[in-house]
Amino acid sequence: EPGLYIVATPIGNLGDLSPRAAHVLAHADLIAVEDSRVTAKLLQHIGTKKPMTPYHDHNADAVRPGLVARMGHEAIALVSDAGTPLISDPGFKLVRDARAAGHAVTTLPGPCAAVAALTLAGLPTDRFFFLGFLPAKAKARADAIAEVAAIRATLLFYESGPRLAATLAALAEGLGDREAGVAREISKTFEECVTGTLTGLAERYAEKAPRGEIVIVVGPPGEAPPAAEDEVEAALAEALTRLP
Ligand code: SAM
Repeated sequence: EPGLYIVATPIGNLGDLSPRAAHVLAHADLIAVEDSRVTAKLLQHIGTKKPMTPYHDHNADAVRPGLVARMGHEAIALVSDAGTPLISDPGFKLVRDARAAGHAVTTLPGPCAAVAALTLAGLPTDRFFFLGFLPAKAKARADAIAEVAAIRATLLFYESGPRLAATLAALAEGLGDREAGVAREISKTFEECVTGTLTGLAERYAEKAPRGEIVIVVGPPGEAPPAAEDEVEAALAEALTRLP
């Protein structure tokens, strides 16, 4: 069937490719990819070869109209290197324009590192807020953190190993020393999720930057701390002066 197929792919373990995703990739006329070498491996895993065309931040605006035109008579699949397309990856404008042109759009749901990390960390899951990658520069990063400090939800960030310790320290500074988790290499051989406080985790990773791909999970703000004892006493003393 012609149209646009958004296809989630594994974030590490190839066994996580769903049979339906494999079927769509095997029957697509064209696959729009981030990196054809990465997707070629996935196609090899399912025993197929397909025409691929690059679709990434640098060429998306130029190639999008052509892709949208082809969706009228061809099945076009969109994948990213790993996980769910559109989530800290290109694709939303392709979906927007495909819809505007009246083409069928369907999604093949599957792995997403942010949601997988949320299920590992043991932090509240009823409300969560995904922020993708924080800005690299310290000032912009601190501003972005300050903007979400009051949100009563678990926060999710993507990060790389070399930047992890500095980001954890900036989070502790801007959010207070909350409970957090660092999920790494999810679904791969060295999967781990280390939990602790933001300052404890910042210290741990300052000693040695970890390898691999990382999601930071930060718990929601705690209840307002009880008023300090001397504040209570001062208030009591003040109230007593007003008694008749
Ligand atoms: N679209 C992808 C998804 O649905 O998860 C995310 C793409 S984003 C460009 C890549 C980032 O996702 C990595 O830098 C890392 O923060 C996170 N990530 C991807 N795979 C991961 C894994 N196996 N374990 C932990 N984090 C992962």
